[in-house]
Amino acid sequence: MPLIQDSLFTIAFQSSPIGMALADLDGRWLQVNPAFCDMLGYAEEELLAFSFHMDSSLQEQQRSLERINQMIAGELSVCRLEKGYLHRKGHIVWVQLSLTIVRDEQSRPLYFIAHIQDVSAQMIAAYSTDIISYAAPDGSLQYVSPSIKTVLGLEPEEMIGQNSLSFIHPEDAAALQSVYERDSSEEAFIMTYRSRHADGHYVWLETTVRTIRDKTGVTEKIIGIARDITERKHAEQLMHDSEKLTLAGQLAAGIAHEIRNPLTAIKGFFQLLQSGKMKRDYYQVIQEEFLRIELIINELLVLAKPQAVSCDRYDIVALLDDVTKLLEPQAILNNIQLQRRFEEAAFHIECDGNQMKQVFINVLKNAMEAMPDGGDIVISLKPVGNLLQIIVQDQGCGIAKEAVKRIGQPFFSSKEAGTGLGMMVSFKIIEEHGGSMHIESELGQGTSVAILLPMPSRI
Ligand code: ADP
Ligand code: MG
Repeated sequence: MPLIQDSLFTIAFQSSPIGMALADLDGRWLQVNPAFCDMLGYAEEELLAFSFHMDSSLQEQQRSLERINQMIAGELSVCRLEKGYLHRKGHIVWVQLSLTIVRDEQSRPLYFIAHIQDVSAQMIAAYSTDIISYAAPDGSLQYVSPSIKTVLGLEPEEMIGQNSLSFIHPEDAAALQSVYERDSSEEAFIMTYRSRHADGHYVWLETTVRTIRDKTGVTEKIIGIARDITERKHAEQLMHDSEKLTLAGQLAAGIAHEIRNPLTAIKGFFQLLQSGKMKRDYYQVIQEEFLRIELIINELLVLAKPQAVSCDRYDIVALLDDVTKLLEPQAILNNIQLQRRFEEAAFHIECDGNQMKQVFINVLKNAMEAMPDGGDIVISLKPVGNLLQIIVQDQGCGIAKEAVKRIGQPFFSSKEAGTGLGMMVSFKIIEEHGGSMHIESELGQGTSVAILLPMPSRI
């Protein structure tokens, strides 16, 4: 029989979406409502065998008891306890119990009324260093977990209501927008970007984004789970830089050779000038030689100095032209022909031109190093749906099956003077551009490296 006879109370108690219960002064459950039973997966009779101390450690019970005694003594009117209850299926459900006390006419305590709320999501958010956030379809933040304080030095309240993009590095914001537009139909996808810390520096975050839709497919909410990956980014940058310097060093010999030719020509013309036998049309030749030197030096600088990532529209054919010019001296020295099979005269994609060149240099250099006795390297470009397919096929030594899997792992190299970083950096760059890279190889036959990159929709 219900403890409280008031039928209105009984209706409210039974139909409340919030867990409710009555407990005696020792905390034993006297009456529990369906919402509370559902929360823990127990039937009513089963729960009535417990008290609100169920599953608590003795220490925790002790702490709760002090507060409860204060309530009984009339020193506290409401008391909130946080408890971890075991669900019937074995997992922990974090609840907040809000207790009030009911007294008789003489003010003697009779029993407790407990409101019980499942706060598991908030508990996980509060204790996790991952940042959980919800945004409306227009990007305005509706919830940000307290862990944002440790990562970005901001209070959730300072962010709620603002557009999530306004906390992101301006260079990354535009790229994110396009990744989002492209991938928002996926169930979940990952974005990497820099976010501004309250004190002005930037923190690298990796966020898993999930779009929640209603039955008709309209976006209701965007959920993000972000993690601070600044440390990892720094380590990657170090490897990236050291690989660039090694490449620059290795290329220096070829480049010195390459610069000597135009210099010799310029020196010759200069002597002609001194002897008064200079003709006007020689000027054009001299200028071309200077331009050539300038181009080669610029290429070397691309590798030697750290560059800011900047996305722009580039023609892959033009980038490949620049790269092959740089590698040609080494190719000629090794009796290697670089052949081009391009299905179209130009292929425009959104990318960081310098990084893309670095990938091509890595892949072409590997191909050349695999062919000490010379041969052909075929570079082909063709559209495959919305993707641009770039294949570099060599006739070199090939790679054993087990080794193919290890390419791209840091420091995996079969060469005496190899760094084993080139492919790692290349994979990373292609991945950051939303593309993929695949290697197929046959020992003794040669290797083909295929790169797929998204092309902006072509009209
Ligand atoms: P490195 O060139 O410094 O060794 P990379 O990361 O560029 O480092 O390449 C890793 C390894 O992958 C190479 O040492 C080589 O064993 C293998 N590899 C990559 N490309 C080719 C290729 N075209 N032919 C044969 N082996 C290759
Ligand atoms: Mg290499």
